[in-house]
Amino acid sequence: SRPQKRTYRIASIPGDGIGVEVIEQTVKVLRTMEDLFGSFTLDIDMLDWSSDRYLEKGEYIPADAWPKLRASDAILFGAVGSPDVPDDISLWDLILPLRKKLNQYINLRPIRILPGVSSPLRSCTSSDLDWMIVRENSEGEYAGQGGTTHDDTAQTIATEVAIFTRLGIERTMRFAFDIARDRPRKKLTMVTKSNAQRHGMVLWDKIFYEVAKEYPDVETDKMLVDAMTVRMVLKPQTLDTIVATNLHGDILSDLAAALAGSIGVAASSNLDPTRQNPSMFEPIHGSAPDIAGQGIANPIGTFWSAAEMLRWLGEEGAADLLMKAMETVTASGTKTRDVGGTCNLAQVTEAVIAELEQLF
Ligand code: ATP
Ligand code: MG
Repeated sequence: SRPQKRTYRIASIPGDGIGVEVIEQTVKVLRTMEDLFGSFTLDIDMLDWSSDRYLEKGEYIPADAWPKLRASDAILFGAVGSPDVPDDISLWDLILPLRKKLNQYINLRPIRILPGVSSPLRSCTSSDLDWMIVRENSEGEYAGQGGTTHDDTAQTIATEVAIFTRLGIERTMRFAFDIARDRPRKKLTMVTKSNAQRHGMVLWDKIFYEVAKEYPDVETDKMLVDAMTVRMVLKPQTLDTIVATNLHGDILSDLAAALAGSIGVAASSNLDPTRQNPSMFEPIHGSAPDIAGQGIANPIGTFWSAAEMLRWLGEEGAADLLMKAMETVTASGTKTRDVGGTCNLAQVTEAVIAELEQLF
């Protein structure tokens, strides 16, 4: 008997600016994969949760949207941000509620130099830079705790309190060790600032060494975040899996993406490892108002995110094929301007689709 065709419910939030453009192309790629494989269907629900909607209705996410969103199998996100809405509103009204309410406590960022893409580091090739960054995604410095007193006076005091919990740190460490164990080099570097911050960062260090005992096969290594930026630039080949707090992970992964060639090629996954809620996949770049509407954005970061989504859904074969097609295309020189090419995003998409058909 024929195996049953699997159906995945995908909620897609293109958002703003180039987010809309890269998602449109990614949907074309996903439709091609569906046709080629024939073993799964993607039931894609396009959600218009943009800054235009916020300006019109005063909200990004409709209040009654949560049950349906929770029932989806994965979320494919573009980018949000508009010159007309302060950045902290799109963050606190859209991105953070999604991550928090859906318990996406891990942000996973694979960083590699793709074939045909060059690093700004002289003499750094794809074999020198192959990292997996595990960023804590639910608490820490982005907990939103604090306040302002004596506002608008010379005595103004603002506090921004980072919250670190044993639960939050421990589950992040276990996730990072599991990832490190599955990679060829089995090496995990933990990043803190425990010389200057004596509470949360010290707890982070302590739990790292506790959990490390359960993983004797993983090589461990500890760095202060400032020294880590230097090491990433000068000795990239000494790093493999990296685990860091919400703030440090945010900053280090932007640096990492730039070292790998462009933020336009970098992908990220916001994961609920318990799988009780849908996980969310998105390129790490923003809405890029400076190039929006010109059709020149690099869609590779979103294609890569879609590949990670397929992998999370259990479609390993489709994920691997998409990565291979993308890498063949970047290697052939069909690239957008941010990575030194002359193509537009539609040309890169057509090349990836042609390559998928070729490889299948
Ligand atoms: P937002 O407010 O949404 O974060 P931003 O402009 O602050 O937007 P990014 O969108 O990440 O931040 O853009 C930073 C720079 O990188 C911009 O100059 C942008 O044009 C460029 N950039 C970002 N993404 C891409 C991409 N996919 N392709 C090409 N260039 C990109
Ligand atoms: Mg930005």
